[in-house]
Amino acid sequence: MAKGVHRSHRALGAALVVAALASTATACSGASEPDRGAAGPAAGQQAPGQAPGQAAAGALHAYVERVRERRTARVVAAKKWGLAKPPLEAPAPPAAKPRITTRKGFETDGEGLPPVFTTVPTKQKVVFLTIDDGAEKDPELLRMMKELRIPYSAFLSDYVVKDDYGYFARMQKSQETGVSLHNHTLNHRYLPGLSYKQQKREICGMQDVIEKRFGKRPPLFRPPYGNYNEDTLRAAKSCGVEAVPLWAAEAFPDHMEWREWDRDLHPGDIVLTHFRGKGDWKGTMPDMIRRVMNVITSKGYAVAKLEDYV
Ligand SMILES: [Zn+2]
Repeated sequence: MAKGVHRSHRALGAALVVAALASTATACSGASEPDRGAAGPAAGQQAPGQAPGQAAAGALHAYVERVRERRTARVVAAKKWGLAKPPLEAPAPPAAKPRITTRKGFETDGEGLPPVFTTVPTKQKVVFLTIDDGAEKDPELLRMMKELRIPYSAFLSDYVVKDDYGYFARMQKSQETGVSLHNHTLNHRYLPGLSYKQQKREICGMQDVIEKRFGKRPPLFRPPYGNYNEDTLRAAKSCGVEAVPLWAAEAFPDHMEWREWDRDLHPGDIVLTHFRGKGDWKGTMPDMIRRVMNVITSKGYAVAKLEDYV
């Protein structure tokens, strides 16, 4: 009898581990960047005096719990911030970043220049959120994005950022995986109207500002208004820019604008929006995020971290 009970407990234990593994597999395949950052039970790690199986089961249990807690937190955050549905969790990014080439019709004559693109080549149902300029410095935005665990990248222009570098330094550290700060020039000029030397000052000057203020030279650069010529790309390359992401869709608090004829999202699309407030458009930053996230989620897309792919 006692033996039978013991055995059935063991069977139950095994069944639980199998169930936990199954749910971990689901969780892993649907895990967002922070979840993967937390990492599952590391192979070969084991507490002293514990059998390998026990250690693995314990770590696995803790991991499954963590994933559950994060999911619950996301549901709560979505409710708090007024989203129609919780944001979908991004799948694990590709082991190797895709090879990105310049979009057809966006080429210049120069060779070996950073690629200019609007969509990242991927089959995953993910899009990327990018926020430009930096005039509006709404602390609610940082709170909202952190609580919802939505990754995004900022493209900063010094003339609107320099009155409060601190806000963007807080942004940079406001998420577990960090928010990357990239280059959108010093003064937001129409670059094709400038000489090579002037463009170099606009682009490379901003590389220096970001490195000095935020500790890292950005690999990504976006020209103001999406306008550039061969000099722009040559200048950008000369000071460390590796890629020039433009955008496939633009988000506002009250509508979307689309580049493609089908007025829809596609896997890998880059979504542009701006740091703006009620003075500039019909709503706050959280209003805009609420709107664009409702569009993204209702179309079945998750927001992934651009720097995981580019
Ligand atoms: Zn801009």
